[in-house]
Amino acid sequence: MVKLKDIILEADILVTSNPKNSIIKDAAVYVSNGLIRGVGTKIEIHKEFSATKIVDGNNKILSPGLVNTHSHSVQTFLRGKADDFALLDWLKKVVLPGEARFTSEEVYNSSLLGFAEMIRTGTTTANDMLTTHDSDSGIKAAKEIGIRTRIGKMLMDYSNEFPEIVTEDTDTIIESARKQIDEHHQTQNGRIKYSLNPRFLLSCSSELMKLIVETQSEYEDLMIHSHASESQAECAKVVKIFGDNYFRSLKKLDVLGSETILAHGIWLDEEEYDLVKQTNTRITHNPSSNCKLASGICDVLKYHKFDTIVGIGTDGPPCNNNFDMFRDMRLAAFLQKVKHLDEMALPAEKVLKMATIEGAQAINWGTEIGSIEVGKKADLTLVNINKVNSLPLYNPVSHLVYSASGKDVSMTMIDGEIVFQDGNYLTTDIEKVKRAATEYQEKWKE
Ligand SMILES: [Zn+2]
Repeated sequence: MVKLKDIILEADILVTSNPKNSIIKDAAVYVSNGLIRGVGTKIEIHKEFSATKIVDGNNKILSPGLVNTHSHSVQTFLRGKADDFALLDWLKKVVLPGEARFTSEEVYNSSLLGFAEMIRTGTTTANDMLTTHDSDSGIKAAKEIGIRTRIGKMLMDYSNEFPEIVTEDTDTIIESARKQIDEHHQTQNGRIKYSLNPRFLLSCSSELMKLIVETQSEYEDLMIHSHASESQAECAKVVKIFGDNYFRSLKKLDVLGSETILAHGIWLDEEEYDLVKQTNTRITHNPSSNCKLASGICDVLKYHKFDTIVGIGTDGPPCNNNFDMFRDMRLAAFLQKVKHLDEMALPAEKVLKMATIEGAQAINWGTEIGSIEVGKKADLTLVNINKVNSLPLYNPVSHLVYSASGKDVSMTMIDGEIVFQDGNYLTTDIEKVKRAATEYQEKWKE
């Protein structure tokens, strides 16, 4: 990591995601001790501040770092291992056995590779779920590479569906989660926050959900992150076991609320949308995952109509198959247009907000990250616009959402530290991580 006291980042175009959606040409940002202290034109910033380092932003857009509101970094070594399944078979045949057999070293390297791909593609914050076992190794990976994250072990104690996989008993789960909270929550200058991650209702007993809610209430700023109402087959099983639709069942278990974020949320009835609104529950939309697993299309516009905060997530590599948020921004826009047969359904400006400031708000981090404003944490990304896929460029927001890809990212800064620049990973030995991925591939190639 390049330790810097202060730095000036320049850019041809600055996209702020601030309340006015300001865009500044020939811009610069002054960063000191991890915080944004000045935002303006190059002339203004250089007049007011001097810094020990200046990053040249010629032919670049400077944007807030992207916020991935639903990821499974640990599944990275299962990329390409689970194609063309629907959700329940995908879980049963590949993902759950795959997660279960990871060694501690593989949890570490698989998560590290996932986080490396995120910072490579402009993501500075991830709302991440790990495995039931050896999850400390995944948290260690997040701490080392420098990503900002809400992260925690996967919580599962029960299942009619996957009895051979689920091995932890209810009390052990809570005990180990509490130990991890004490060790990791609010560490690394507040960059790491723990999260309680019950996988989904089909793998969690009512008793476990009750204990999770109780545990959450004892800590400050501790979110619950789970999956809900993803596929119709899953929802039918939830009705059978819990006696009601998914979101009403969650409400009865007291899981809904402003400190809960739920992934997918596709098959809701009118009353369930209203429950989400009344409880101020947050939703993460995961367009690639929903398409690949043939789960359905989340009605983002409906959530917006109900004033629900919706972020954008990639989900994990077995259902995407990457962590490039640029792809998911583009697909999020396209899916709503085609779902509603309305070209204005989700314009680029709104999608970029969902992937930056609204994503940050969805994980209750919006006062500190998600936009380029004085006083906020310096989580920033520079995107190269001097490329064949970039020109001509009339509207930088349209460019970021529809034309750009993660490969165009030239620099990523988190908490004022540069973690990726010009192809170099500054916080991790990327060749070592890649070797570990290839070794895993050889081990499990059949
Ligand atoms: Zn997921």
